[in-house]
Amino acid sequence: MSADGSRRVSGMVLSSMPVGETDKRIVLLTREEGLISAFVRGGRRQGSSMLASSTPFAFGVFDVYIGRSSVTVHSASIDNYFTEIREDIDLVWYGTYFLEIAEYYGLEGADETERLNLLYVTLSALGKGIMDPDLIRWIYELRTWAVGGEYPNVYSCTGCGREEELSFFSPSAGGSICRECHDSGVDADPISDSCLYAIRYIIATPLNRLYSFKLTEEVRVELIDLLKRWKNRYVSHRFKSEEFLKFAGKGE
Ligand SMILES: [Zn+2]
Repeated sequence: MSADGSRRVSGMVLSSMPVGETDKRIVLLTREEGLISAFVRGGRRQGSSMLASSTPFAFGVFDVYIGRSSVTVHSASIDNYFTEIREDIDLVWYGTYFLEIAEYYGLEGADETERLNLLYVTLSALGKGIMDPDLIRWIYELRTWAVGGEYPNVYSCTGCGREEELSFFSPSAGGSICRECHDSGVDADPISDSCLYAIRYIIATPLNRLYSFKLTEEVRVELIDLLKRWKNRYVSHRFKSEEFLKFAGKGE
């Protein structure tokens, strides 16, 4: 984190925890300073200007003081509370999970502009109902892996490096397998061209177009199944809100 002093950062509240009677500790994902854990004096007091602006999903500009051992939020100007998510209990399950993912992968003191933008377009798509929440969820997870640089290789065969006939996929091999390697005994499942292109699109398209494509039901099922298997293999962390999502009978 930068040296002591007052700063203006733009970002989003990811989580909030009560401290004492009237205060809060929040986690912010910011462009300028990455993840920040900050103290909000009076953040739970009725009538406090910080009450609403220090709740999860609040996105805007925060004036913080960065001290040697702690950060304090003084004031905030909120552009978007994502009310359409907060007022729909089904969407809250998903949205809370998305925030937890951002908090888990977010880094302190790093430029987190891309992760913050990804979260913003994802919550916007969720709130507007642009796609079904489960598909949004898996697109968001894949793009999160891509932001972190650990995603399936869908551009060349992980066995021999060929870029043609990538019609098989193996999570354990790290991605695509070509027909030749498969025929010579590499264990992999078939993948459709549409599914392969969807994965490439999600990994690399500009964020403002991330949620503007369509899939047939068949490809949707194939994509989600593949990403689930990838996640089972490479993501060992258990997310609390993912358990809630399952408990609520949501989430594929
Ligand atoms: Zn090959």
